[in-house]
Amino acid sequence: MAPVATKDQNEAVSTPAPTVLVIEDEPQMRRFLRPALEGQGYRVLEAVTAADGLAQASSHNPELVVLDLGLPDGDGVDVARRLREWSTASIVVVSARGQESDKVAALDAGADDYLTKPFGMPELLARLRVAERHSARLRAESSDPVFEAEGLRVDLATRRVTRDGQELHLTRLEYKLLATLVHYAGRVVTHRQLLKEVWGPGAVNENQYLRVYMTQLRHKIEKDPARPTLLTTEIGVGYRLRVEPPAPAST
Ligand code: CA
Repeated sequence: MAPVATKDQNEAVSTPAPTVLVIEDEPQMRRFLRPALEGQGYRVLEAVTAADGLAQASSHNPELVVLDLGLPDGDGVDVARRLREWSTASIVVVSARGQESDKVAALDAGADDYLTKPFGMPELLARLRVAERHSARLRAESSDPVFEAEGLRVDLATRRVTRDGQELHLTRLEYKLLATLVHYAGRVVTHRQLLKEVWGPGAVNENQYLRVYMTQLRHKIEKDPARPTLLTTEIGVGYRLRVEPPAPAST
């Protein structure tokens, strides 16, 4: 029988599967991740130590890295920092509960996002999709100036913000905060990153600025500011402007 090229096969040829490097020492986590990621069409590489992770990253140049923070020969935060020196790969950190300060350190070192163990596969896949879109947008360097989600529309070119077609009037700092969150849409942004980008490097410890301005911003952009669905809090870490509704609870 002559092989028939299907549409899917043609697409697979024109867009090679993105490579995910999983740097994780727990065998059960790797057994959970590999089949699920391969099932989504990713090519999966595995490393069990920080040293092997860095070596495999430099020889295979993966598009995505799933990085455990507690590795037998070192700290995942250092791996994130070392990768960021040369790699454009999106880095999603996975860590145990109670490692909030490590997660923040990893994000400040250049990781793109994090998940707390145990997590569900739909949540990881959603984070990887966001990370991939973000790096594709950076590579294209012609990012769409319009953000839209749940009736909120932010046009970065005209600085116009509307909700359900109604114009919202934001103060200069509220707009700057929202525009910064739009820049990182879908990904967590740490308190430190937000304070640095909106208020400047001298304000990185002024967490009360954020509390005040987030409340104001939520009152303007959220349908129900007491139960925010767009601008969500990542406790102990930062904030996230959602591009997709939250995945179902995983525990
Ligand atoms: Ca570990």
